[in-house]
Amino acid sequence: MHPEYVRAVSIKDALDALAGGNFKLLAGGTDVYPALGAKPLRANLLDISAVPELRQIRPIADGWRIGAGATWSDVLSADLPPWFSALKAAAREIGGPQVQNLGTVAGNVCNASPAADGSVALLALDARVIVASAGAMREVSLTDFVLGARKCALAANEMVLAFDIPQRSLNARAAFAKLGHRRYLVISVAMVSVLIDCNADGIISHALIAVGALSARAIRLTELEAELIGKRRDARLALLAEPRHLARTTPIDDIRGTRVYRLDAALTLLRRALAEVLA
Ligand SMILES: Cc1cc2nc3c(=O)[nH]c(=O)nc-3n(C[C@H](O)[C@H](O)[C@H](O)COP(=O)(O)OP(=O)(O)OC[C@H]3O[C@@H](n4cnc5c(N)ncnc54)[C@H](O)[C@@H]3O)c2cc1C
Repeated sequence: MHPEYVRAVSIKDALDALAGGNFKLLAGGTDVYPALGAKPLRANLLDISAVPELRQIRPIADGWRIGAGATWSDVLSADLPPWFSALKAAAREIGGPQVQNLGTVAGNVCNASPAADGSVALLALDARVIVASAGAMREVSLTDFVLGARKCALAANEMVLAFDIPQRSLNARAAFAKLGHRRYLVISVAMVSVLIDCNADGIISHALIAVGALSARAIRLTELEAELIGKRRDARLALLAEPRHLARTTPIDDIRGTRVYRLDAALTLLRRALAEVLA
């Protein structure tokens, strides 16, 4: 029997289809199709790329909402506050313009690749994931949503609707840095995303630091974050980042780099990104 293909045109359509059948969600398809390789398509596909509500990027009462179906090009062209610069930098690094025109924010997160660039930037924005099924809605932190490589806390009848990002002050700055084997169109060997917010006296009120490609899932460096909070903004604080702060990561040796190389690269990227936002 041939797999079924359903194209939803509203969120309700999509949730009803998920409630009544066994579907794989298809957004831009830039992860779904390459993952098939030479194998035939067997899963029923629920295409959500024609649901306009999912593409919205807009301010909400206490921050910003990025629709699950917003493409990386949508993120790049959106009029967002300066502290979204790390997410925009990550967007610019995701494939080339063709991939950015199709690939979506939720696709990057839900594909749950350890090297997902967008996930790391969203983690350093403290994103909350809005998940819905027919008749129910829940919110979960991104930290608890991505469980490991290719694993998310998402039931078969659920889909991601959006990512909510808490408001930051006008003093907040963010940076994203990625190392690959060439400058563009490359899977990360290591990447970091940081956001630092300060009060009017220049004292750090919030520090959000995430690293990716060093573990089965991206993680926040909460010990380093805690050490930065309460200090006065100063680029020299970047040197507070030490190998011990990466102790909870579990990098592997693979074709892109050894464990030792990844750790060394991540520390360098981390210090550079911190120096940029703390200057
Ligand atoms: C040439 C090329 C280069 C690339 N370069 C990079 C790169 O440098 N960095 C990087 O991070 N990625 C890269 N990617 C991967 C990919 O483009 C991104 O991860 C993209 O954001 C995936 O989005 P999508 O909409 O295409 O996802 P899809 O392929 O449509 O879906 C991916 C997964 O997410 C699920 N999904 C999609 N939407 C939802 C939803 N709303 N709710 C629940 N589940 C959902 C799907 O079921 C599927 O499991 C590259 C891909 C290609 C082909």
